Amino acid sequence: MKELVLPLPDEAATVALGAALAKACDRASVIYLYGDLGAGKTTFSRGFLQALGHRGNVKSPTYTLVEPYALAPLAVYHFDLYRLADPEELEFMGIRDYFAQDAICLVEWPQQGTGVLPDPDLELHLSYQGQGREAKIQAVSAYGSQLLDRIHGPQG
Ligand code: ADP
Ligand code: MG
Repeated sequence: MKELVLPLPDEAATVALGAALAKACDRASVIYLYGDLGAGKTTFSRGFLQALGHRGNVKSPTYTLVEPYALAPLAVYHFDLYRLADPEELEFMGIRDYFAQDAICLVEWPQQGTGVLPDPDLELHLSYQGQGREAKIQAVSAYGSQLLDRIHGPQG
């Protein structure tokens, strides 16, 4: 599947990547966000949410696991599964209802929900690169591949 590697020299670049993907998503989408603590997963999510009109700050929902945002054209659910003890907890919180909706799901620490989370359209891997970061975006579904084209141009 398609993959895009982008340098993110500063925080603004991470925010801009989130905004670009937000503008590209025009239907229910699932985006997994990988990377160590401080790699920029929440920063990316803030750029994404603010591009869809969210005003105010964005915190990782570390204790509540999910934060809903009623935005147009699609609602966004921002998950942070860092503190999830057992993927089964996701069943108890009704995870299937979130993913069954016409909504965008951004998931930090998706590896904590293995076996219960649905497959993503895109995986974003953020890593430290000097003072900045590097983003590797992998399309996992055909729709994810379209999303990559939209942010990068179809010539790849
Ligand atoms: P995570 O959710 O992955 O734990 P956060 O987004 O909460 O990470 O924190 C990332 C930190 O790194 C923030 O202090 C942010 O300002 C900074 N940051 C984000 N993107 C970049 C970047 N591309 N280059 C340098 N610093 C960045
Ligand atoms: Mg975070």
